[in-house]
Amino acid sequence: MNRQRNRTALVTGAGRGIGLETVRQLDLAGLDVVLAARDPERGRAAARTLGSPRIRVEELDVFDAKSVEACAKRLADDGVDVDVLVNNAGVYPTVSFFSLDEDVMRRALDVNLMGAFRTCRAFCPAMVRRGYGRVVNVSSGLGALTGNVPSPAAYGISKAALNALTLVVSAAVPQTVKVNAVCPGWVRTDMGGRGAPISVEKGADTVTWLACLPDSGPTGGFFRDRRRIDW
Ligand code: NAP
Repeated sequence: MNRQRNRTALVTGAGRGIGLETVRQLDLAGLDVVLAARDPERGRAAARTLGSPRIRVEELDVFDAKSVEACAKRLADDGVDVDVLVNNAGVYPTVSFFSLDEDVMRRALDVNLMGAFRTCRAFCPAMVRRGYGRVVNVSSGLGALTGNVPSPAAYGISKAALNALTLVVSAAVPQTVKVNAVCPGWVRTDMGGRGAPISVEKGADTVTWLACLPDSGPTGGFFRDRRRIDW
């Protein structure tokens, strides 16, 4: 893997699961990492398990626009440039379409779609100004439209919308800022459950790969196992 010294990555929803493992892998790759979690105490406890001096913990609830703005301001005030943004925070409502109420639907969209919308608007303009950026939207094959009905309802629709956001943002920035989506596969986390076939290390691998893409790397794509997949 490329050594990425002097770059800073911010990972949302990083207190556990794929987010925490992505922090670990990015730290190993040599980046400074902001472990962003909506509960900073839990975030600090998670960071301690990794024991790296290059990890900084920040409170960030992607559901809350003010929380995103406040986090971006704290980092800017401290002179921290976010070069790599990993939109990992996610919720997984499993309710079927006719049992779904508006609150559940709104919550899924608010975290899985609007969370990334908010962070992209907070951090991408400075990436464009500095001429370097990597954005990784942690999506899901359950949001793929090709040969698939997005499912379960609220989750699938929110991830399909996150895929659309990926294309829109990638078209809105120059090629120096690479914006891609990833399906980590079915991963053994609290969300994926114990029966999932993929380890968290493997699940985070393509996330980390996209976060560390060289300048010649792709943008505006959807990837699983480091390979392009259909939207
Ligand atoms: P997880 O273990 O359930 O972790 C979800 C993370 O998202 C937690 O850190 C949680 O924080 C955070 N989060 C939820 N709402 C948030 C909010 N409003 N603001 C900030 N953080 C919030 O799930 P995971 O398996 O690691 O999933 C990570 C990502 O991968 C998600 O986007 C998920 O959709 C995607 N994915 C997972 C699988 C899979 O099989 N596991 C498959 C495809 C895609 P708290 O600890 O505070 O709750």
